[in-house]
Amino acid sequence: MKNETPNGPTRWACEALRLMRGAEAEMGGERRSVGAWADRYRNEVARRRRWPEIRKFAWFAAALLQRQMPGERFFRRAEAFTDAFRRRSDVNAKTVRRLLRGLGYRWGAAEGARIVLAARAVAASPAFDWSDYVSRAEAEAETGFGGDPFLAIKGVGRKVRDFALSLFSESYCAVDVHLRRVLRRVFGLEGRDYRTAERFVRRTAAACGLTPGAVDRTLWHFGRGVCGATPRCGECPLAERCGSAAGGSD
Ligand code: SF4
Repeated sequence: MKNETPNGPTRWACEALRLMRGAEAEMGGERRSVGAWADRYRNEVARRRRWPEIRKFAWFAAALLQRQMPGERFFRRAEAFTDAFRRRSDVNAKTVRRLLRGLGYRWGAAEGARIVLAARAVAASPAFDWSDYVSRAEAEAETGFGGDPFLAIKGVGRKVRDFALSLFSESYCAVDVHLRRVLRRVFGLEGRDYRTAERFVRRTAAACGLTPGAVDRTLWHFGRGVCGATPRCGECPLAERCGSAAGGSD
């Protein structure tokens, strides 16, 4: 069957997500269904929301530095920040530069430190509270949360801010290369415009009774584990209905 290109949510989108959840995907040497991986994400978000504020900051700041780098690098950076930031005074230029140099931060330690210190200034302001921030972000997720104080930091755009928020809220998604590939092959969504892809994820989530985060994680694990640069169409549960089957290209 030819792929459908939904201008709005379709029954096919929900069916495709259901089929994707049943596929098997490997990560870190562990093999689970895509659905199990996506469900684990939900638990991780809930767990992170209970973290101490300094640890939340470490992960959030690490996410703000994410710019088209392999996902694995993010977790290394987040763990390094977590280990180094035990109190707010640990978040200083010398420490952040040292960490970023050690991690080989592609965009330069000085540039990365500038963003982290600007984020620290936001989080350290007397008016800032993480719970309030996430609540407000969720209330304004559909409209983009343009008043987010982190968006005022030079070098922090919607895409990277959404990725940072997706670590703490299911109302946000992180569109990356894996999502784009699946959106193109399965749903015919062409182009690299972030807002188009993000809106598609939101509409699909609303139509299928899911959160944007759940849709994002399903597409991500499916794109990483099954519909990769070299797609495994022979073992894909969507093969009979996917117009890109066997001919998929990255
Ligand atoms: S291109 Fe292949 S692996 Fe990807 S969704 Fe279609 S059938 Fe599945």
